[in-house]
Amino acid sequence: MSRAYFDHNATTPPDPMVIEAMARALKEDFGNPSSVHHFGQRAKAVLDEARSAVAELVGGEPAEVVFTSGGTESDNMALRGAAEALESAAAATPRRHVITSSIEHEAVLNTVKALTRRGWTSTLLPVDASGIVSPGSLASAITRETGIVSVMHANNEIGTVQPLADLAAIAHEHGAIFHTDAVQSVAKIPVDVRALGVDLLTLSAHKFNGPKGVGVLWIRRGTRLVSTMTGGKHERNRRGGTENVPGIAGLGVAARLARKKLDGEAQRIAALRDRLEHGILSTVGGTAVNGAPSPRVPNTTNISFDGVEAESLLIALDLEGFAVSTGSACSSGTLEPSHVLRAMGLPSHRTQNSIRFSLGAGNTEAEVDALVTKLPGVVAKLRSLVRR
Ligand code: PLP
Repeated sequence: MSRAYFDHNATTPPDPMVIEAMARALKEDFGNPSSVHHFGQRAKAVLDEARSAVAELVGGEPAEVVFTSGGTESDNMALRGAAEALESAAAATPRRHVITSSIEHEAVLNTVKALTRRGWTSTLLPVDASGIVSPGSLASAITRETGIVSVMHANNEIGTVQPLADLAAIAHEHGAIFHTDAVQSVAKIPVDVRALGVDLLTLSAHKFNGPKGVGVLWIRRGTRLVSTMTGGKHERNRRGGTENVPGIAGLGVAARLARKKLDGEAQRIAALRDRLEHGILSTVGGTAVNGAPSPRVPNTTNISFDGVEAESLLIALDLEGFAVSTGSACSSGTLEPSHVLRAMGLPSHRTQNSIRFSLGAGNTEAEVDALVTKLPGVVAKLRSLVRR
């Protein structure tokens, strides 16, 4: 049976050039990048190349790029590191208030919860029915005590893109640091840290055809952050531990490829996504798209199917050779309704009946058409079972 993968927001297959670069780094550049000798310097050159590639992809400087073990660690480092720096600052008004949105990934939501356990207060900004955080709601929530604002760039479940530049400007007017989790936007839409005005930005290689277990926290020069991974003087003292040279080699190649392909590929993927979305809405009754159609990353659509439990549809589609998701990978299998769809105020029959289709480099028109052809029958069968 041929299989089609429509779950690129969970992870993506590494590009063959990424695999090649990683194998080369494992074999030939095995030195410790901190060593002074030839072998060490070869490995360091791999890090330098990847640092430049990432900096170019997001519009920053290489010295602002800190390699981590992925999106989760970068989110932790941003929030915990900024919090610790603020805790040690001798300010007349202590800043111990963090603001985030109600639709963040667990890597941010649970880290904010951890901050509240050590004395911080937190505010979760609401989203409207389209899944957007309004700058007005941030302006109302922010106070002189707010130290950190963290709002994701694109949402992993519905793909909506937040008005980051406006949000970051409000945070800065009030003297707060602005972090964004850009794991789902980097390599899908242009991301420019200067134009967005952010201080800290998280990205993860495995979401754009790089390897798992490697990511970046981009730290604007001058941003105060205490290292949360204490150890040696790696990454300019910002993250201890010998760097994952093969993983970073793969990340660098993925970043270069993403930058080169961004325009054309984004258009191709958006056309496929729109073909899929239109195909489903016009052939399967009782369906609706969740979240604003725009601004949205080009590869994502989240659709509710009336009268069908999402997990059953996911399994039925898997049996037919189509891999989709019920929302964020971390919460799949729990049968918990999506916190994102709930925050948007969707009724429970929609929060439990929604499927995320996320497209990527390997997808073709033929795969989209095959899925659109299969879906009406699969959905009709599941609905008939429920009615019995
Ligand atoms: N943030 C967002 C928005 C994500 O979608 C993910 C992954 O699903 C993460 C963070 C975590 O990234 P990683 O898997 O690299 O730890």
